[in-house]
Amino acid sequence: MGHQMFEYNSTLAEEVYAYCRDRLTHPVPLDFGGLSPDPLPDLEGLIRPEGNDPEAMLTLFKDRLATHVVSIDSPGFLAFIPNAPTKNSLLFDMVVACSGLNGTSWLESAGVVEAENQALTFLAHTAGMPEGSGGAFVSGGSLGNLSSLTVGRDVGRTKHPELAAHTLRFAISADAHSSIGTALHVLGIEALLVETDDHRFTRTNLERALANDPHPETVIGIVATSGTTNAGIIDDLEGLGSFAREHDLWFHVDGAYGGAAIFSATHAQYLSGLRHADSFIVDPHKWLFAPLDCCALIYRNPTIARKVLAQQASYLDVLHGSDDEKYEWNPSDFAIHLSRRARGLPFWFSLVTNGVNAYETAVQASIDLAERTVKMIANMDHVELVRDASLSIVMLRRIGWGPEQYNAWSQQLLRDQIAFVTPTKWEGETVARLAFLHPDTSDELVLEILESMRD
Ligand SMILES: *Cc1c(COP(=O)(O)O)cnc(C)c1O
Repeated sequence: MGHQMFEYNSTLAEEVYAYCRDRLTHPVPLDFGGLSPDPLPDLEGLIRPEGNDPEAMLTLFKDRLATHVVSIDSPGFLAFIPNAPTKNSLLFDMVVACSGLNGTSWLESAGVVEAENQALTFLAHTAGMPEGSGGAFVSGGSLGNLSSLTVGRDVGRTKHPELAAHTLRFAISADAHSSIGTALHVLGIEALLVETDDHRFTRTNLERALANDPHPETVIGIVATSGTTNAGIIDDLEGLGSFAREHDLWFHVDGAYGGAAIFSATHAQYLSGLRHADSFIVDPHKWLFAPLDCCALIYRNPTIARKVLAQQASYLDVLHGSDDEKYEWNPSDFAIHLSRRARGLPFWFSLVTNGVNAYETAVQASIDLAERTVKMIANMDHVELVRDASLSIVMLRRIGWGPEQYNAWSQQLLRDQIAFVTPTKWEGETVARLAFLHPDTSDELVLEILESMRD
C-alpha cells in the first residue's frame, strides 16, 4: 500500500507510450493556447488525500489541457522564437527522464558530463573559440546571460579595485534581449546604453558613446547580440570583440537564437567575431532543434567562471577533491545552479546520430525560406518589408493596418489553425513578424499567411 506509487502501472505505461508515439509520428497540430474556444477544465479538488484514476487524469491532460497549448514545434508556429526538436532528441529526452541522471558533478555522472562536454566543445570550436573553452548546459538564455555577466562583473571588479566606489557598467544596445536588462538589474550593474545606427551595435557606435561619456572607465564589459530576437540583426562582433581585447573588457555574445547561424553556409561569416568572446550562449532549444530547456553556456576561460560561481559547502567538498582538472569538471560550477537535469544529452544524441551536415542543412533551410519570403512580399502590393530580412526573421507591414487589425488577423489565423503569427513593434509601429525555424515550414504556408492579409 504505502509504496504503491513506486510500482509500475503497465496499463498507464502503455497509454503514455501510445500518446508519445502519436505525438512523434503524426503532424503536430497547432492547437489553441489561451484562444481556445473551449473553457479550461475545472481542476478543483483533484489534489486530495487519495489519488485519482491515472488513466482518467492522462485523458484529462490529452483532451482538455494539452489542447490549450499552442504547440511550439508545429511548422505553423512562427511567433516569438519557435522550437523544433528533432525526433531523436525527443526520444532521447524520454531516455534521460527514465535514467536517473543527475548532471551536477563529475563524481556522480562522469558519463553524462563527458557527452555534454563533447557537444559544448564542438559548439565552441564551430564558433571559433579557442581550445579549452567550456561551460555547461543551463535552462535557457536568460540564465546563461546572468551567469556570464556575473563572471564578467567579478573579473572587472578584481581588475579594477580603484572602481570599488563606483557602479560598474556593461555597454549594451537598446536591441539587447530583455534578459540582459534583468541580469544587470540582478547584478547591481548599470548599462551604458549605446545608440546605434539602424539597430546594429558597432564598434564605431561604442567608441562614440565612450567618447561622450563622463566616466568611460566604469565600463568593464560589452554585450553583443548575434541575432536580435525581434529582427535577427547580428551586431558587429568583430569590431566590438577586438575593441574588448584591446581595452581588456569582458566580451559577452548573446546568441540564444541566432548563434545557431555558425552552422549556416551563407551566414557563419558574420559570426566570425565570436572568436573574441569571453562568454557565449546559444540555445539548442531554439535553432538547434533540441527540446526545451537547453542553453549552451561557454566560457573562453572556464577556470575563471568556476572561481566565481562554484558553490562551496562542506557536503560538496568531495566534488572538488581531485587535482586532476578533468575530475573537477562539474557542470554545476559554471552557472547559478546546482542540481541539474542532463539537459544537454538530447542535443548531444541528436547531433551524433543525425550528423553535423543535417544541422547545417536545417539551419540554412530557414534562412533560405526567409529570402524566398522577401521575394513573395516584393510581388504583392498589400504588404511590404519593414526592413531587410535578417537570419530567419522577416518583418513586414500590411499597408493601411493599425494594431487592431494586426491583432484580429493574428487571432483569426490561430482560430483557423493555419499558423501562429503575432505582431511586434518596430520603431513604435505595430508590424507583422515571421520567425522561421522549423525546416518543414513550407512556401505554401507562407503564401497562405501573406494572402490572408489581403482583407
Ligand atoms: C530567447 C532569447 C534569450 C532568452 O533565452 P531563454 O532561453 O528564453 O531564457 C536571450 N537572448 C536572446 C537574443 C534570445 O533570443
